[in-house]
Amino acid sequence: MTDYESLGIRPVINAYATVTKFGGSLMPPEVIQAMSQAAGSFVDLAQLQRRVGERIAALTRNEAAYVTSGAAAGIVLASAAAVLHKQPEALKQFPDIAAFDNEAIIFRGQRNPYDYSIHQTGLNFIEIGGSLNSLLAAISDRTACIFWFPRGDLTVADISLAEVIAIAAERDIPVIVDAAAQLPPVENLWRFTEMGAALALFSGGKDLRGPQPTGLMLGRKDLIDSIRPISNPNHGLGRPLKVGKEEMLGLLAAVERYLRLDHAARAQYCEEVVALFCAALNPLPGVRAERAFPNEAGQPLPWCLVSIVPAVLGRSADDIVTAFLAHEPAIAVSPLDETQFHLNPMTLNPGEEVVVRDACLRLLGSGPL
Ligand SMILES: *Cc1c(COP(=O)(O)O)cnc(C)c1O
Repeated sequence: MTDYESLGIRPVINAYATVTKFGGSLMPPEVIQAMSQAAGSFVDLAQLQRRVGERIAALTRNEAAYVTSGAAAGIVLASAAAVLHKQPEALKQFPDIAAFDNEAIIFRGQRNPYDYSIHQTGLNFIEIGGSLNSLLAAISDRTACIFWFPRGDLTVADISLAEVIAIAAERDIPVIVDAAAQLPPVENLWRFTEMGAALALFSGGKDLRGPQPTGLMLGRKDLIDSIRPISNPNHGLGRPLKVGKEEMLGLLAAVERYLRLDHAARAQYCEEVVALFCAALNPLPGVRAERAFPNEAGQPLPWCLVSIVPAVLGRSADDIVTAFLAHEPAIAVSPLDETQFHLNPMTLNPGEEVVVRDACLRLLGSGPL
């Protein structure tokens, strides 16, 4: 039997978030079915990428769409598209594009571990403060694109995305939005590009619940078409960022499902789970549980903030987070600091909330861990 158990790997209940290190999200049956269909025959991969892109574009009200091997891969390809928009002759040069002297502009308050991928094309980035003036001062004839990372949990730059787009549009500079974890709301699939962002990037393996190694690039057709010659199955910069036929059909099925999903019922489930956690945990000495909103990456869903008094429990929040993973079954919760962690209903399978609650009652009591 080929399975986790035979490898000595314990499955984890995910009360953390759509984090990559625990597998992102779980593929629903329709996604698995589409992947299984795709696995049954050979196809022309470039043609499949085009057809899937056309279907996803129509479904998400975008001019064009492209399946990437994740949002981080999308950053690489979007950076390349921006360079090619400015200098089409750079096509065969990546990542040796220093001679073209192009720059991406990013905001200091939005720096994050994924912006490294901008460098992977060979493109330099310059980091600016959040004011209108710093943006105007940074724009030059070297500017290939401006990146925007909407993050609910970071200080937002004091210039708005709409203002950035307006300034960039006057100068024909593409604005690229890394919206990897910005689902829900489902409207974000068209909101950023309808605002005028040139490209919006999403993870396929987060709330879309497509295959974990997929992503979605949505937006301008000219930009998306420009990277095809250097993207899988063609050779060049994008070849190592390969997406298979199974992933393409799987992501399409995931997008179709996501658009049909009852998002209000799903939000209601999250509310009920948070209420269940709060009711169970608040009677415990040295423990406070409360509804927090929005959740991990700023998605408009509630989650549960648990605060503990380590002196009362004889353990820190770190000890508890570790104990959840050692618990049978293993549970991943979202660490915050020495006295707090979050329980996130967003990634629970219905029914698992009771397992998480019971584990909390065990680990947040005063008995041995
Ligand atoms: C998760 C995430 C990524 C990476 O997405 P993958 O699909 O895992 O490549 C990039 N940017 C942000 C802001 C993210 O949250």
